[in-house]
Amino acid sequence: MERSVQILIIGAGPAGMMAAIKAAECGAKVAVLEKNHLAGRKLAITGKGRCNITNTKPWAEFSTHIHPRSNFIRTAFYNFSNEATIEYFNSIGLETVVTQGDRVFPASMKAFDVVDALVARMDAVGVKLISDADLLAVSNEGDKFKCTYNDLSSPHAIKTEVVVADALIIATGGLSYPATGSTGRGYDIAASLGHTVTRCHPSLAALLPRNYEGSLYDIELKNVGLSLFVEQDMVQYEMGDMTFTEDGIEGSLGFRVSRKAINALENGSAVELVVDLKPAVSLQELRERVKREVSSFKWEVPLINEARLKKILRRFMPAELIDPFLKMSKGLTVNTLPERLKEWRFPIARHAGYRRAVVTAGGVSLDEVISKTMQSRLVKGLFFAGEILDLDGDTGGYNLQIAFSTGALAGQSAAKYVSTL
Ligand SMILES: Cc1cc2nc3c(=O)[nH]c(=O)nc-3n(C[C@H](O)[C@H](O)[C@H](O)COP(=O)(O)OP(=O)(O)OC[C@H]3O[C@@H](n4cnc5c(N)ncnc54)[C@H](O)[C@@H]3O)c2cc1C
Repeated sequence: MERSVQILIIGAGPAGMMAAIKAAECGAKVAVLEKNHLAGRKLAITGKGRCNITNTKPWAEFSTHIHPRSNFIRTAFYNFSNEATIEYFNSIGLETVVTQGDRVFPASMKAFDVVDALVARMDAVGVKLISDADLLAVSNEGDKFKCTYNDLSSPHAIKTEVVVADALIIATGGLSYPATGSTGRGYDIAASLGHTVTRCHPSLAALLPRNYEGSLYDIELKNVGLSLFVEQDMVQYEMGDMTFTEDGIEGSLGFRVSRKAINALENGSAVELVVDLKPAVSLQELRERVKREVSSFKWEVPLINEARLKKILRRFMPAELIDPFLKMSKGLTVNTLPERLKEWRFPIARHAGYRRAVVTAGGVSLDEVISKTMQSRLVKGLFFAGEILDLDGDTGGYNLQIAFSTGALAGQSAAKYVSTL
């Protein structure tokens, strides 16, 4: 059976749901196709289940966390800013709190509450959510979009259905965490409609060192320095906290350097991370401190065996780090300790891939999308929103704000477009 609707949105993630709500609030008849049974599956696991909705930094600072061209979403941001996003969620019954680093979370610290608020709002403004609907193809016939999808609602028989729409918003996300539904189908559909999709790679993903030491798993380092070297040139330096996990080096520091590091790995370049365990102290000061600490033990025989080296290390690092640090620092002596503390080297073998990446870098080329409306420059009535675009942010709420701002603008612009037909 063929159905028709004014605006069809593909994908009920944060971008698609916000687009649907804003279009319906403007008076348009809207339907959303979602291949999962429930909307917002990825949204429900964001922020370790707490959902870092946005970040309160002003645009001048906020924009430095958006890549590769923050200027592209300037209009979308001013149209539906971080402040407007907070106000909007508050107005639909979701209280929010601001935490360290200007990060905004639901007051309940439950990502499911954000999903529920958006789903309830879609319902309240009359958006039709068609779930278990996997979009297969789109053809642009006349001024309309004919969208063919598989209805997966019955486990016994998959039916192929068609929806015809006056305007189409593609909000199918990227390639990261494919288990949540974002498998990159939207890129194929955008390409089939004539759009260029720039080279994609995972971003905000763990970096796996060569000969990675298993006893490092789950150790968190606070206030350390991290330098990224590509082909032996230092290209980025950051300070903060990092975590060693089964997948490699991650945590906020690891993620901050991951975009450039993964891009370099994908290009076949040599990548190395160098950890400075004492970033606030110069090498000279550290040498003097090591000498002071050694003499404070007042050992009668000056021989430094492994047991004594461990006692010294205890003054410079958390206890759980000592064994893996020693294992990875072959030939360590009191004399070489200061250098090793300031330059702990991790040549990187590979990254964790899309399976564990927070976002996808790359996507639908920004050159072919009008930033003031999110409408395609190539196909009238076609709009894009969210991670499918060649836009990605750092950790800290920037990616969801990209989804909300581009989603809101795409929804409002599509509603305006259909009102003139
Ligand atoms: C573990 C994790 C934690 C994160 N935490 C945060 C955080 O705290 N703060 C933050 O700002 N960002 C976070 N992010 C990033 C953020 O979740 C994404 O950037 C955001 O969800 C992108 O929104 P989107 O709507 O564009 O895409 P998605 O959320 O991926 O939604 C796309 C939707 O489209 C549907 N779809 C795909 N293909 C089809 C098809 N063919 N037919 C029908 N439907 C389809 C998918 O099923 C999906 O529901 C996190 C990401 C991950 C993986």
